[in-house]
Amino acid sequence: MSDLEPVIGVEIHVQLSTRTKMFCGCAPSFGDAPNTHTCPVCLAHPGVLPVVNGEAVRRALIIGLALGCEIAPRSIFHRKNYFYPDLPKAYQISQFDIPICGRGEFTAIREDGSELKVGITRAHLEEDAAKLTHGGGRRAGADGSVVDFNRGGTPLVEIVTEPDLRSAADTAIFLRQLRQTLLFLGVSDCSMEEGSMRADANVSVRPVGSQTLGVKTELKNMNSFRFLERGVEAEIARQREIIASGGHVQQETVHYEPDTGHITSLRSKEESHDYRYFPEPDLVPVAPDPAWVERLRSEQPELPIPLRRRLVVEMGLTQEDAEVITGSPELVAYFMEAAGLADPKSCANWIRGELRAQLRELGQEPWESNVTPAHVAALVGLLADGTVSVPAAKEVLAGVIETGDDPATVVEARGLGQMDAGDLSAIIGEIVNANPDQAQQLRDGKDKVMGFFVGQAMKRTGGRAEPQAVQALVRAAVLGE
Ligand SMILES: [Zn+2]
Repeated sequence: MSDLEPVIGVEIHVQLSTRTKMFCGCAPSFGDAPNTHTCPVCLAHPGVLPVVNGEAVRRALIIGLALGCEIAPRSIFHRKNYFYPDLPKAYQISQFDIPICGRGEFTAIREDGSELKVGITRAHLEEDAAKLTHGGGRRAGADGSVVDFNRGGTPLVEIVTEPDLRSAADTAIFLRQLRQTLLFLGVSDCSMEEGSMRADANVSVRPVGSQTLGVKTELKNMNSFRFLERGVEAEIARQREIIASGGHVQQETVHYEPDTGHITSLRSKEESHDYRYFPEPDLVPVAPDPAWVERLRSEQPELPIPLRRRLVVEMGLTQEDAEVITGSPELVAYFMEAAGLADPKSCANWIRGELRAQLRELGQEPWESNVTPAHVAALVGLLADGTVSVPAAKEVLAGVIETGDDPATVVEARGLGQMDAGDLSAIIGEIVNANPDQAQQLRDGKDKVMGFFVGQAMKRTGGRAEPQAVQALVRAAVLGE
């Protein structure tokens, strides 16, 4: 049964970080006291009417354009009927057969640089349900449930992909890079922990070469990409096992338990006709002005994946550099400013390496710190013209983090400038004379001892010597090279 292939599609719910909810003036909130952001509209009092949030429409269009979706000239809202305590109207206003964003495609990049193309089926607007909390455990076996309507009515975009993914690892890569793109668009804070981005995976298996889809299950409620990847992996294994033992996969919703690695069944999946969709009579169609859509298209920021390619091809960064630098829009802006003033590759090294390492201890990000992009560029310049050694540059950086002064000022104030070659040579001579045993080891070809000499030189010079220069001088003094 090794010739079964997994077929995976995902549905991603993204909460839009707008000031107000989808159909009323309440502020969406996370973490506030329960039921403090509600009004007659989002609590479904009789006689109220929904009004579409224009900013939510704008953000849905921005997402659709970034995913290469066809934008519908006219889309409509439907009522999706189901009875559950998280839904006071007993229906959710959503989009059904005419979503605002139709077919598109998203290309992610795997670690080896290869492309991962995923078809986008649609991206539509809807409202979030309220939040249910089950006391005394999870849904099964809970001894009571409470509902918080703060989340109810929060604008959501649901992105649905084609079943184009073939492994759990690819699924995680796609979702991480999609999230990164959404962050660059500034439409959502995309927090998996807080639930402002949620992903469900539809998983099935089929014989390799088959064009027919197998029976799928829906893996729900994953609050991290790592768990989702492991959950998809576990579900693929479970389905392979069922088929290997001659059984049939049931269409159902399943849940992955990260602690035990087990898959449990939640309920049989409802067919879409169970929702009795019908057009929302209280809302007019969404018909965005084509000129507006074109303006939004022209205003799109540079997205992380094309940007990654550009950083590698035009600026000489490695794939790994580019991946780190495109980690957030703030870091990209920070890097770009530095790279405009000094060698981009060196700026990338210092930003992703030493700067982030030193700031991590303070719990700061580069753009929040005393170190400006111009400081980074100046430091790279001081290294390039030999004013400071690499170890001294790290101290200069620490000084800039502390004081916010220019690197050149820190070099001056702390005496971190590179030593005069003659002075360094004299110091090396003294060190070699004072350590005849180590010098003999070097003569005997034990190159490891070089670390000892470099360490001594750094101690004597306060880190103001370039390790390579030290090594050359030690060789010259001991071996006459
Ligand atoms: Zn409200």
